[in-house]
Amino acid sequence: MLRVARKKDFCNVLGPGTRSVIWFHGCTRQCPGCIAGTMNEITEYETFHPEQLANWVKCHNTIEGITLSGGEPFQQPLNELTTFLMLVKQNTNLSVLCYTGYCYEELNKKESAIPVLQFIDVLIDGEYRQNEDFGQRWRGSENQQFHFLTKQYKNQKNEWNTAVERQIEIELDINGNLLISGVPSKDFINKLTTELQKREVNVDFS
Ligand code: SF4
Repeated sequence: MLRVARKKDFCNVLGPGTRSVIWFHGCTRQCPGCIAGTMNEITEYETFHPEQLANWVKCHNTIEGITLSGGEPFQQPLNELTTFLMLVKQNTNLSVLCYTGYCYEELNKKESAIPVLQFIDVLIDGEYRQNEDFGQRWRGSENQQFHFLTKQYKNQKNEWNTAVERQIEIELDINGNLLISGVPSKDFINKLTTELQKREVNVDFS
């Protein structure tokens, strides 16, 4: 079963166009300054069969694609992740972006990860490094690279590599929790968390 910490039907700040986003639960890498927040802690999560998750994606017929984030997508059962992405690609025309803390070269040598890679259009790899956080669009830090694994978006490579207009989306759920999507800077997270905790508001960064 795939472990999902959170999913969002429509998001405009994690890749081109409007996208459905899945934040997978759990990451054991413990990179210093990680901004994935609660996705890495032992918190509640939902489990899905690949078919269930693919059906959820299929319901969103106005989106441009899906984005996988975390946590760490490549610490999910990789055979199930492959099945999920295969179903998405078979049944839709959606593009697939995927964030990972692993390096592409590392994944490309791992037998179980290679089938997953074949269904990803753009892989954004590498750990978050606070001292290389210069506000890059769709990336947390300069070391994280876009790998255009298919033709899709390849002609936009220069623009993607140089864009710096970082945006976030903020929502308040019915329980009073603040949900933040996008790639906020660590400074922004610290300041916002301090202010909101004074007001007893829980914040969920993803
Ligand atoms: S930066 Fe990415 S790989 Fe590193 S701990 Fe956070 S979620 Fe895991």
